[in-house]
Amino acid sequence: MQELLLTDQLLLNYRRCRRRTYLEVYGNPEEQDPEKEFLLKLKKENQLHIASTLESNSLVYQRPNAKDWLLNWQQTKELMEQGIECIYGGSLHLSLHQWQACITVKDNINFSNPEDIAFLGKPTLLIKIPGKSIFGDWLYFPINIKLGRRPKPEYKLIAAYHAQMLAVIQGVLPPQSQLILRQQNTYQIQLDYWLERMQSIVVECVEMLMAKFEPEVFISRQRCSLCSWYSHCYNIAKSQQHLSLIPGVTPKRYESLIGMGLDSLESIAAVSQDHLEEKIGKTIAVFLKQQSQSLLLEKAMVRADYNLTHLPPTSPIELYFDIEAEPDRQVDYLLGVLLVDRIRNTQQFYPFLAENPTEEAQVWQDFWEFVSLYPEAQIFHFSEYEVETIKRLATLYNTPKLSTKVLLSRFVDLHHWVTKTVILPVESYSLKSLANWLGFEWREAQGSGDQSVCWYDSWLTTQDRTFLDAILSYNEDDCYATYHLKNWLVEFLNQSQQQQIF
Ligand code: SF4
Repeated sequence: MQELLLTDQLLLNYRRCRRRTYLEVYGNPEEQDPEKEFLLKLKKENQLHIASTLESNSLVYQRPNAKDWLLNWQQTKELMEQGIECIYGGSLHLSLHQWQACITVKDNINFSNPEDIAFLGKPTLLIKIPGKSIFGDWLYFPINIKLGRRPKPEYKLIAAYHAQMLAVIQGVLPPQSQLILRQQNTYQIQLDYWLERMQSIVVECVEMLMAKFEPEVFISRQRCSLCSWYSHCYNIAKSQQHLSLIPGVTPKRYESLIGMGLDSLESIAAVSQDHLEEKIGKTIAVFLKQQSQSLLLEKAMVRADYNLTHLPPTSPIELYFDIEAEPDRQVDYLLGVLLVDRIRNTQQFYPFLAENPTEEAQVWQDFWEFVSLYPEAQIFHFSEYEVETIKRLATLYNTPKLSTKVLLSRFVDLHHWVTKTVILPVESYSLKSLANWLGFEWREAQGSGDQSVCWYDSWLTTQDRTFLDAILSYNEDDCYATYHLKNWLVEFLNQSQQQQIF
């Protein structure tokens, strides 16, 4: 049998999705999606972030140059033995025997053939500090440099994994393991907590891999959207009519549903309300039952808990607003507005575009002047992001608080309206999913918020205007999608109101 190498990356993926780790080891690579441009961009930025962290901390380092992991590990060990102050890009390696010897959790890994497993870690940096180790009067602690803003649990897990490996290699547990995050902020891992947790997760992960146990598919928009196995998993979920494709079914609720023997749309739609409420609470039980009925009948429904007394506002002039932003650079590079004149029956798109991030202030001013021309017009948008951005820009560019408050009072969040009033036969309540259901299609078929960020980056580096055109077209279509959705919602609620009266 080929040796199983438990890398830190496999472990990190395991924390996010067990199935992903399984597929990375046993899946057919031909079934993977091509790497997304946005992911490549993140990888590049991560490298730049590491380089700038090394530079800003004036770190003088030595780097093992072997690409092969075993050679790289041998070079790293030699550098540690020599007492090099800072080692960048090194590797740590343990056999199963070594790992088992240091484990304190009760259920240790127990396999008949220990030659089958080895452990590999790649901390960004190893830093020398005074102390006693098998090397002499020094020892090392690991630092991982990550692009994330927060110290995510999976980062902490890996930081503990590296600390544990170092403990075996140098004969003493490092006193610390650090993360350096996006803003160059340093975060200390609570090793006493994370070491034990990490050991249990390693045991679980190795057992799953050795038993070749394929975890069930579970589609979660947030977790799966950037995963290279998405198409593969989605097709399986679709063919199984998996419950994770029903909006509102979280992993925890899924367990409850399966525990109740509810494993299909039909069974959820038919189960007694009281029975469902007992397990998952009233609000979600009402929603899930109706959502299942809507999907089965492929029919839009008014929510059971909505009494049709209010409808979204309609006025002669309406504005539909959507933003393209690069949160990492903290720049909102396009404020797109679709002006809808319901009297003249015209629509005109107005893009306020920062061709350079330094133009954001000008864009904000132009946008402000434009929306001030239509003080009576409601501003429709989809999601909270637009409101948050207006607040951010108003604070940044010293817009008077009262004016900002007045402007925000004109904002109408259509996502809020949709989710509070109707149940639709869709897999998600994202703008794309809802507008697609209405038959609306984006001209940029590959467009998405992430892709727009990549286009903007490509524009900045190449000055090729086709990238700007793609962003403008995508943003304009977002505004039109919001407009069509609003028209449909008002009409549907109006009709439902009439049917209720007669
Ligand atoms: S697509 Fe989702 S379920 Fe499939 S491996 Fe990736 S994260 Fe896991």
